[in-house]
Amino acid sequence: MATKRDYYEVLDVAKTASGDEIKKAYRKVAIKYHPDKNPDDPSAEDKFKEAAEAYEVLSDEQKRARYDRFGHQGVGGAGGGQNMEDIFSQFGDIFGGGGFEGFFGGGQGRGGRRVKKGSNLRIKLKLDLEEVANGVEKKIKVKRYVACNTCSGTGAKNGTDLKDCGTCHGQGQVKRVVNTMLGQMVSSSTCPTCNGEGKIVSSKCDVCHGEGRQLHEEVIPINIPAGVAEGMQLSMNGKGNYPERGGVPGDLLIQIEEEPHELLKRDGNNIMFEQYISFVDAALGASIEVPTIEGKVKIKVDPGTQPGKILRLRGKGIKDLNGYGRGDQLIHLSVWTPKNVTGEERELLEKLRNAQNFTPNPGKNEKGFFEKVKEYFQ
Ligand SMILES: [Zn+2]
Ligand SMILES: [Zn+2]
Repeated sequence: MATKRDYYEVLDVAKTASGDEIKKAYRKVAIKYHPDKNPDDPSAEDKFKEAAEAYEVLSDEQKRARYDRFGHQGVGGAGGGQNMEDIFSQFGDIFGGGGFEGFFGGGQGRGGRRVKKGSNLRIKLKLDLEEVANGVEKKIKVKRYVACNTCSGTGAKNGTDLKDCGTCHGQGQVKRVVNTMLGQMVSSSTCPTCNGEGKIVSSKCDVCHGEGRQLHEEVIPINIPAGVAEGMQLSMNGKGNYPERGGVPGDLLIQIEEEPHELLKRDGNNIMFEQYISFVDAALGASIEVPTIEGKVKIKVDPGTQPGKILRLRGKGIKDLNGYGRGDQLIHLSVWTPKNVTGEERELLEKLRNAQNFTPNPGKNEKGFFEKVKEYFQ
């Protein structure tokens, strides 16, 4: 994958820009690089698509938050293989009532027949914390449209019973001249006779009844990288549906869902765990077992441990999605105070109540709450 420019840079807005500012900025860039306005500049279309992709992410609060946190990886599938049609249909509304097409008078016309792309297939994939932490290969059964074998996806009997469309002479597009607020523009629109296909099927394939495609069930292996997060979308190019009568298949979009772990909580690439210890263990020290994503691990509790102490197990967290090492597991030690005591326990505790070292002396010997919070965030 080519390196992508920062989305804020693409739209030339500040990281703190409001939704409105982003919308305005996108409108500006989109008008500047609209392919119909730059027929001689092939890079305009790329810039136009780049802006649409940036807008798709930054205009969506959730996607924007993920982007801010994880970068381009955080919004995996976004925009990746977007074709012009997607952009026009998705963002048409930004240009007001008439939509993109109305605004530019037709849009999409760059001569020649566009390659038809099939629809995307969307699935949700549940992963447990271990799978998220280390990555996993999943085999997923999907039902998707593939090209019909009998007619090679054309929809025509024997794959040959086709002729050029009379209206557009096989171009798939019809041209017209429109007056717009930006001046006169030649625009093309999809041929209404052949729906842009350029060909007319004279007699239909018996197997697919002219559709050129068939439903097919297959098992697709998917490599999930370590460090993905809830809501992320991965995309597999060409694993979506094949379109009717020829073209290229859409994509398979995989949306990640995280199954919560019974004991361990995720915070970015770190794992959080709360461990209760008795105040005897806190006072005398102990060796205890805590769960991690790699199984149980023994940790040492120092004598004189205060409640709220945080222990760090380095490298026991989640592998970073971008390959920047691995997170840690943080263990928050809480001291368990018994809620009920037996007579014998009460006697023992009463003896301790006034014992020399059992009176707290806050602020003198211990780090305060605020120091601890600071330390934690370092
Ligand atoms: Zn036609
Ligand atoms: Zn067929």
